[in-house]
Amino acid sequence: MKEDFSGRIYSALLIASRITLFGYRVGFYPITTISKLINLKNPTSPHHNLGIYKISCGECNSFYIGQTGRKFGTRLLEHHAAYRSRKTQESAIAAHCLQENHDMIESTGELLHTCGKGRTMNRMEEAEIISAKVNNGDDLLNDIGVTYLNPFIRFFYKFKITHHNSSF
Ligand SMILES: [Zn+2]
Repeated sequence: MKEDFSGRIYSALLIASRITLFGYRVGFYPITTISKLINLKNPTSPHHNLGIYKISCGECNSFYIGQTGRKFGTRLLEHHAAYRSRKTQESAIAAHCLQENHDMIESTGELLHTCGKGRTMNRMEEAEIISAKVNNGDDLLNDIGVTYLNPFIRFFYKFKITHHNSSF
Protein backbone atom coordinates (compact mmCIF):
# COMPACT_ATOMS: atom_id res chain seq x y z
CA MET A 1 0.00 0.00 0.00
CA LYS A 2 2.80 2.37 0.95
CA GLU A 3 4.63 1.73 -2.31
CA ASP A 4 1.44 2.26 -4.28
CA PHE A 5 0.93 5.64 -2.59
CA SER A 6 4.45 6.91 -3.23
CA GLY A 7 4.17 5.59 -6.78
CA ARG A 8 1.13 7.76 -7.29
CA ILE A 9 2.86 10.81 -5.89
CA TYR A 10 5.76 10.12 -8.21
CA SER A 11 3.42 9.91 -11.23
CA ALA A 12 1.71 13.15 -10.23
CA LEU A 13 5.07 14.93 -9.91
CA LEU A 14 6.19 13.51 -13.23
CA ILE A 15 3.02 14.76 -14.94
CA ALA A 16 3.38 18.17 -13.29
CA SER A 17 7.00 18.48 -14.38
CA ARG A 18 6.09 17.49 -17.95
CA ILE A 19 3.32 20.06 -18.06
CA THR A 20 5.71 22.73 -16.80
CA LEU A 21 8.30 21.70 -19.34
CA PHE A 22 5.72 21.68 -22.12
CA GLY A 23 4.36 25.07 -21.14
CA TYR A 24 7.82 26.51 -20.83
CA ARG A 25 9.21 25.17 -24.07
CA VAL A 26 6.20 25.66 -26.28
CA GLY A 27 4.51 28.71 -24.78
CA PHE A 28 0.86 29.56 -25.18
CA TYR A 29 1.08 32.57 -27.41
CA PRO A 30 2.51 33.27 -30.81
CA ILE A 31 5.90 34.92 -31.11
CA THR A 32 5.73 38.66 -31.69
CA THR A 33 8.01 40.79 -33.79
CA ILE A 34 8.01 44.55 -33.72
CA SER A 35 6.11 44.63 -37.03
CA LYS A 36 3.32 42.49 -35.54
CA LEU A 37 2.72 45.01 -32.76
CA ILE A 38 0.35 46.76 -35.14
CA ASN A 39 -2.14 44.23 -33.74
CA LEU A 40 -2.29 46.40 -30.62
CA LYS A 41 -5.42 47.86 -32.14
CA ASN A 42 -7.11 44.48 -31.96
CA PRO A 43 -8.56 44.09 -28.43
CA THR A 44 -8.51 40.27 -28.63
CA SER A 45 -4.76 40.19 -29.35
CA PRO A 46 -2.54 38.59 -26.65
CA HIS A 47 -0.62 41.87 -26.63
CA HIS A 48 -3.39 43.26 -24.47
CA ASN A 49 -2.73 40.72 -21.72
CA LEU A 50 -0.59 41.10 -18.62
CA GLY A 51 1.82 38.47 -17.41
CA ILE A 52 5.23 36.90 -17.82
CA TYR A 53 7.02 37.47 -21.09
CA LYS A 54 10.23 36.52 -22.83
CA ILE A 55 12.16 38.59 -25.35
CA SER A 56 14.75 36.72 -27.41
CA CYS A 57 17.60 38.32 -29.32
CA GLY A 58 17.27 37.63 -33.03
CA GLU A 59 21.01 37.32 -33.56
CA CYS A 60 22.10 35.05 -30.71
CA ASN A 61 20.58 32.83 -28.01
CA SER A 62 20.33 35.54 -25.35
CA PHE A 63 16.94 36.21 -23.85
CA TYR A 64 15.25 38.18 -21.10
CA ILE A 65 12.29 37.23 -18.92
CA GLY A 66 10.10 39.89 -17.34
CA GLN A 67 6.70 40.55 -15.91
CA THR A 68 4.33 43.31 -16.84
CA GLY A 69 1.31 44.60 -14.96
CA ARG A 70 0.37 46.50 -18.09
CA LYS A 71 -0.28 45.35 -21.64
CA PHE A 72 2.46 43.07 -22.97
CA GLY A 73 2.48 44.96 -26.28
CA THR A 74 3.05 48.28 -24.49
CA ARG A 75 5.91 46.80 -22.47
CA LEU A 76 7.49 45.34 -25.59
CA LEU A 77 7.36 48.73 -27.30
CA GLU A 78 9.10 50.24 -24.25
CA HIS A 79 11.98 47.77 -24.62
CA HIS A 80 12.31 48.84 -28.27
CA ALA A 81 12.13 52.52 -27.27
CA ALA A 82 14.96 51.94 -24.74
CA TYR A 83 17.04 50.43 -27.54
CA ARG A 84 16.41 53.35 -29.91
CA SER A 85 17.17 55.96 -27.25
CA ARG A 86 20.13 53.88 -25.95
CA LYS A 87 18.75 53.86 -22.39
CA THR A 88 20.51 50.66 -21.42
CA GLN A 89 19.50 50.87 -17.76
CA GLU A 90 15.83 50.58 -18.78
CA SER A 91 16.05 47.29 -20.64
CA ALA A 92 18.44 44.36 -20.31
CA ILE A 93 17.67 43.15 -23.84
CA ALA A 94 18.25 46.65 -25.28
CA ALA A 95 21.53 46.85 -23.35
CA HIS A 96 22.57 43.46 -24.75
CA CYS A 97 21.72 44.42 -28.35
CA LEU A 98 23.61 47.73 -28.08
CA GLN A 99 26.64 46.13 -26.44
CA GLU A 100 26.89 43.23 -28.86
CA ASN A 101 25.79 45.23 -31.89
CA HIS A 102 22.81 42.91 -32.42
CA ASP A 103 19.82 44.48 -34.17
CA MET A 104 16.90 44.57 -31.76
CA ILE A 105 14.45 44.78 -34.67
CA GLU A 106 15.26 41.09 -35.16
CA SER A 107 14.25 40.22 -31.60
CA THR A 108 11.01 38.41 -30.78
CA GLY A 109 8.65 38.74 -27.84
CA GLU A 110 6.49 36.00 -26.39
CA LEU A 111 3.93 36.03 -23.61
CA LEU A 112 4.61 32.89 -21.54
CA HIS A 113 1.76 33.19 -19.04
CA THR A 114 -1.11 35.56 -18.48
CA CYS A 115 -1.85 36.43 -14.89
CA GLY A 116 -2.99 39.31 -12.71
CA LYS A 117 -0.59 41.58 -10.87
CA GLY A 118 0.82 40.67 -7.47
CA ARG A 119 1.92 37.48 -5.79
CA THR A 120 0.96 35.06 -8.57
CA MET A 121 2.82 37.14 -11.09
CA ASN A 122 5.91 37.32 -8.86
CA ARG A 123 5.81 33.57 -8.33
CA MET A 124 5.46 32.82 -12.04
CA GLU A 125 8.28 35.18 -12.93
CA GLU A 126 10.42 33.58 -10.24
CA ALA A 127 9.68 30.07 -11.58
CA GLU A 128 10.46 31.02 -15.19
CA ILE A 129 13.68 32.80 -14.29
CA ILE A 130 14.94 29.94 -12.13
CA SER A 131 14.04 27.39 -14.78
CA ALA A 132 15.84 29.49 -17.41
CA LYS A 133 18.88 30.01 -15.17
CA VAL A 134 19.21 26.30 -14.47
CA ASN A 135 18.61 25.19 -18.08
CA ASN A 136 20.07 28.03 -20.16
CA GLY A 137 22.01 30.03 -17.59
CA ASP A 138 24.54 31.52 -19.99
CA ASP A 139 21.88 32.92 -22.30
CA LEU A 140 19.68 34.51 -19.63
CA LEU A 141 20.15 38.28 -19.46
CA ASN A 142 18.28 38.82 -16.19
CA ASP A 143 20.19 40.09 -13.19
CA ILE A 144 19.30 37.44 -10.61
CA GLY A 145 20.48 39.76 -7.85
CA VAL A 146 17.57 42.14 -8.44
CA THR A 147 14.92 39.53 -9.25
CA TYR A 148 12.20 38.99 -6.71
CA LEU A 149 12.83 35.61 -5.10
CA ASN A 150 11.31 34.45 -1.85
CA PRO A 151 13.90 33.39 0.76
CA PHE A 152 13.19 29.68 0.47
CA ILE A 153 13.37 29.70 -3.33
CA ARG A 154 16.58 31.74 -3.19
CA PHE A 155 18.12 29.22 -0.79
CA PHE A 156 17.01 26.25 -2.89
CA TYR A 157 18.14 27.92 -6.10
CA LYS A 158 21.63 28.67 -4.72
CA PHE A 159 21.86 25.07 -3.57
CA LYS A 160 20.92 23.78 -7.01
CA ILE A 161 23.28 26.16 -8.80
CA THR A 162 26.14 25.17 -6.46
CA HIS A 163 25.50 21.56 -7.33
CA HIS A 164 25.53 22.39 -11.04
CA ASN A 165 28.88 24.04 -10.40
CA SER A 166 27.99 27.27 -12.17
CA SER A 167 28.20 30.85 -10.99
CA PHE A 168 25.37 32.79 -9.38
ZN1 LIG B 1 22.21 38.87 -29.13
